[in-house]
Amino acid sequence: MIPVRGYDGTRVAVLGLGRSGLATARALAAGGATPLCWDDSPEARENAQKLGLTLHDLTRAAAWDGVSALIVSPGIPHLYPAPNPLIARAMEAGVPVDNDIGLFFRSLAHVDWDQYENPPRVVAVTGSNGKSTTAALIHHILIESGKSSQLAGNIGRGVLDIDPPGDGAVVVLELSSYQTDLARALTPDIAVFTNLSPDHLDRHGGMGGYFAAKRRLFAEGGPDRAIIGVDEPEGVYLANQLVENASDDRLIRISVERKLTGPGWMVQARKGQLSEWRKGRQVGSIDLREIAGLPGSHNHQNACAAYAVARTIGLAPRVVETALHSFAGLPHRSQMVGEKNGVRFVNDSKATNVDSAQKALSAFKNIRWIAGGLGKDGGITALAPQLSEVKKAYLIGHSARDFALQLGDTPHEICDTMATAVARAAADAVPGDTVLLAPAAASFDQYPNFEKRGDDFVAQVALLL
Ligand code: ADP
Repeated sequence: MIPVRGYDGTRVAVLGLGRSGLATARALAAGGATPLCWDDSPEARENAQKLGLTLHDLTRAAAWDGVSALIVSPGIPHLYPAPNPLIARAMEAGVPVDNDIGLFFRSLAHVDWDQYENPPRVVAVTGSNGKSTTAALIHHILIESGKSSQLAGNIGRGVLDIDPPGDGAVVVLELSSYQTDLARALTPDIAVFTNLSPDHLDRHGGMGGYFAAKRRLFAEGGPDRAIIGVDEPEGVYLANQLVENASDDRLIRISVERKLTGPGWMVQARKGQLSEWRKGRQVGSIDLREIAGLPGSHNHQNACAAYAVARTIGLAPRVVETALHSFAGLPHRSQMVGEKNGVRFVNDSKATNVDSAQKALSAFKNIRWIAGGLGKDGGITALAPQLSEVKKAYLIGHSARDFALQLGDTPHEICDTMATAVARAAADAVPGDTVLLAPAAASFDQYPNFEKRGDDFVAQVALLL
C-alpha cells in the first residue's frame, strides 16, 4: 500500500466504495488521515463497514464541515452529463475534489528514495482503445526482462494498493479519461497515448472535452518521455505541442498506418513489421506477424507503444522481441479460445464500441461475426468497409434488429442469445473460418459487464469443443 501523504490529522471524504474507493480509504488511514466513507448503495456501505471503515453520511447538510478533500471513484460523474449532487455540494463548499490517481502521484515519493540509485519510474497509459493491452504488455516485457514492475489503475488493482516500489522499479498505470480528467496531480515519468476515437462523450461534454481529459496526462506534469500514436489528427497535434524541434527525442511517435520520417525518434509497424528509427537511422526491427498473442494492426499499435516504453527504460530490441512472443494476450481482447476442424473461435467481448469492433474485424478473415447488445449512437454503419470479410453476422441482444437494418447485403440472422449465435455460427462454419465475438455494443442489456458476456461466449464454445 502507498500511504497517502499530505492529509495527516485531517478528515477526508471518500465517495464510492468499490475497489479503488476501499483502497483509497485504507491508504488515507495509513497516512494518518481519517477517511469518511460514503456510497449511494447500501450494500457497498455495509461491505465497507464490515471491512472496518467508518461511514459518514455525506448527504447531510453539515457533512462538509471540517472536511479537507473529497476523493471520488471514476464511475461517478463530476461534471457531465451533470455533476453528482454530493460532488456539486462539496465544490460549492470549497472542498477540493480529487481522485486516487491524484493522491498516488502526491504520495509516491518516499524518504528512502535518497538511498536509491534509480528512483522508481511511473509509466502511464491512456487512449481510447488498447490501454489495458498496452499496459499489460509493458508490464509483461519488464517482468520477462527481470525488472521489478507492478501494474495498476483502471486494470484490476487500485493505484494506492501497490507495494512501495524499490530501487529501479517501474509502476505501470492504465488511466481512463475519467481518471486523468479529475486527478489534481499527474506526473508520470513516461506517458503513452495510444489513439483517439469517440467514447464516453456524455461524461466529457463531447469530443473536445474527451481529448482535453486525456491531454492532461501530458500537459499537467510534463513527462520525461511522451509516446504518442499519430494515426489520428489529435495525436499529431499533441505530438506537435510537446516538441521544441523535429529531432526532440523527449517524444517517440508511433504509427501503424503510415511511414514516419524525419530526424526524431519513432516506432512504426506498417503491415506487421515493427521498426525503430532514431536520428534518421533504423536501430531495431521485429516481425510482429508471427506473434500469436498480438493479432491485427491494432495490436501492432499496442506493440509499438510497449516497445517504445521498453526502449526508453533501456531494454534491447532482442529482449523485447522475446518477451512479445511469450505474451498470452488479455481475456476478452482478440483472445483465441479454441479451434475445432479448422474453425477458430475468438473472444473480443471488450469490443464495446465501433472503433474496437472495426479493429477486430480487420484482424481476421472469413469471419462469422457475433455482434449486438446495447448499441451506441451512430450504430454500425461505420463498419461497412470491414464487412467484406464477414461471411455472415449472428445478431444478439437489444440492438440485433437495428444492426440487421444496417448490414446491407451482408448475410445475417437474428439469434437473440449467445447460445444460439455460437451454435448457429459453428454449424455454418467451414475450415478456415473464424467465429468472432466483437459486439460493437455494450453488454448491459443481457450481462452485468463485458467480462460476463465473454465468459458466456467461452462457455458456449467449450460446450461445442
Ligand atoms: P482499453 O483498456 O483502452 O479499453 P483494451 O486493451 O482493453 O483497451 O482493448 C479494448 C478493445 O479494443 C478490444 O476489443 C481490443 O481488441 C481493441 N483494441 C485493443 N487495442 C486496440 C488499438 N490499439 N486500437 C483499437 N482497438 C484496440
